[in-house]
Amino acid sequence: MDLVPTPESPHSDHSGGANASPHASSSSGHTGATSSSPSPSPSPSPSPSPSRYESQKRRDWNTFGQYLKNHRPPLTLSRCSGAHVLEFLRYLDQFGKTKVHTQMCPFFGHPNPPAPCSCPLRQAWGSLDALIGRLRAAYEENGGRPESNPFGARAVRLYLREVRELQAKARGISYEKKKRKKPIQEQQQHQPPPPPSAS
Ligand SMILES: [Zn+2]
Repeated sequence: MDLVPTPESPHSDHSGGANASPHASSSSGHTGATSSSPSPSPSPSPSPSPSRYESQKRRDWNTFGQYLKNHRPPLTLSRCSGAHVLEFLRYLDQFGKTKVHTQMCPFFGHPNPPAPCSCPLRQAWGSLDALIGRLRAAYEENGGRPESNPFGARAVRLYLREVRELQAKARGISYEKKKRKKPIQEQQQHQPPPPPSAS
């Protein structure tokens, strides 16, 4: 059905039109382009609320447990090493929301690129760092020995440092600027259990 007259046609004037509205159908370049690109906030402002930290820690611990469960070949917590933790962190990258530009990308080093690019999304260093901190605590709370804590392994520390440097360069963000306050809770909880009172 191409019977509808095109707006440009000069014959679109109906005879006897009392309602002759000035139907100027010249499409001025008004496209409703409200460029509302979903700008993801990279860090949801770490609030040091202890209950939130605790519940997040429990969630992370469950996530890691699930990861171990699905691991092929099967992996138990007691046999988990720093290398497995690194594997876990790399696995998490597929759920990341932080654009990390490659050196070939024109936006390499731009904190706020003006256009999209095809660089991969990763877990932000800050997220990984906080996650490892929570898992490290959870491991010991769940009976793991500090000296065998895979989350405190040297390889994990080195990996996190590497990620930090890489992302700082790629995103043009200096992580040194925003110093994260250590939750006071964590330091105060580090008290040895009271000795058995021999009375
Ligand atoms: Zn890029």
